[in-house]
Amino acid sequence: MTTTNTNASKWLGAEMRYDSGVYNKHQVVMVRGQGATVWDEQGRAYIDCVAGYGVANIGHSHPDVVKAIQEQAARLIVMPQTLPNDKRAEFLTELVGVLPQGLDRVFLCNSGTEAMEAAKKFAITATGRQRFVSMRRGFSGRSLGALAFTWEPKYREPFGEAVDNKNVDFVTYGNIEELRAAITDQTAAVILEPVQGEGGVRPASPEFIQAARELTREKGALLILDEIQTGFCRTGKMFASEHFGVVPDGMTLAKAMAGGMPIGAFAMTQEVADRMPSGGHGTTFGGNPLAMAAGVAAIRAMKNEGMAEQAREKGAYFMEKLRAINSPKIREVRGMGLMIGVELKEKSAPYISALEHEESVLTLAATPLVVRFLPPVTISREQIDQVVAAFERVLNSVNPREGRAAELAAREDKQTE
Ligand SMILES: *Cc1c(COP(=O)(O)O)cnc(C)c1O
Repeated sequence: MTTTNTNASKWLGAEMRYDSGVYNKHQVVMVRGQGATVWDEQGRAYIDCVAGYGVANIGHSHPDVVKAIQEQAARLIVMPQTLPNDKRAEFLTELVGVLPQGLDRVFLCNSGTEAMEAAKKFAITATGRQRFVSMRRGFSGRSLGALAFTWEPKYREPFGEAVDNKNVDFVTYGNIEELRAAITDQTAAVILEPVQGEGGVRPASPEFIQAARELTREKGALLILDEIQTGFCRTGKMFASEHFGVVPDGMTLAKAMAGGMPIGAFAMTQEVADRMPSGGHGTTFGGNPLAMAAGVAAIRAMKNEGMAEQAREKGAYFMEKLRAINSPKIREVRGMGLMIGVELKEKSAPYISALEHEESVLTLAATPLVVRFLPPVTISREQIDQVVAAFERVLNSVNPREGRAAELAAREDKQTE
């Protein structure tokens, strides 16, 4: 199976041949992961600052999650939510135990976009209203319902009027006056990410989140925080909203919640849950015992291993080292915990590509100018040092106006989550 020419890989050939074509695939085949390291089919090791787009927070193949999946797979894999299940009960108890007080009703599903769909439906039934306020540069997922909240026009425009965002008003993230003007007595909910991920790694100011809480309360609208990327220790707390002292009416969750298994959830207050008619929403795979077992193990590992604190300390260390890089190409280093973005004065794609090919470090874009780092919280300080040194080398060596770098910059547009 080991080949000297990656392009000759039968795996890559089959994937390029049969996949739908919506992804801008890297020319590499990944086969294994452990902690913050992943390996390709030729045995080359990479430091993974993509972590499945911020999924592998507790590290790839955490041993407790592996064991929980193995045991549960041998016992019971599927059981619909009309039939109660021991692992589901255990997971819900574990999840509600770490959620902010007041959020103690949970709709279980399988992805972030499904969590947003649930949030939308529950917000409509809870308020009897259908208008929403979302954020410029916000990202909420790719289903037609969630897409209506997603700012980036290139994600929405190919689908025309099928994306129903006549009922969505976009406001500038951080602008309290615009937010105040947009929330009316027709607003069902304000949707916002405590730190915008896809939109360039932009932490909200505490004043903005607090104003969103007060303004929604005044107008009888819900505040729904999208913690799909920021949740589960990524920002240095279990949930980013804890940094702001704000408890929303609903929170969307997914990515890191089950240590790598597909999962999603909409957590809400009793009042929000109460208004949804019985049978008003549902999903076949939501709350399946296998994802539940992985989720129990993942949340326990986050608590037992102090993952939030690790993210806080390592994030501060990582950002301090990034800020010490002396390069005229850097405009700003920003982030929260281990959700870090470096905004360049030019397109980030050639640097992301050089990091992968020349330095064996995986990173991702967040808007065309930002290099985003979302490493597992288990990343070591030595690995952080290696990543920063590698980044400094590529900043010094890559000339984005030349050859391969220019070509990559030209096709960077498809690089998204
Ligand atoms: C990833 C993400 C989503 C969509 O989640 P999927 O699981 O990809 O559907 C929604 N909102 C935010 C903030 C995200 O980061």
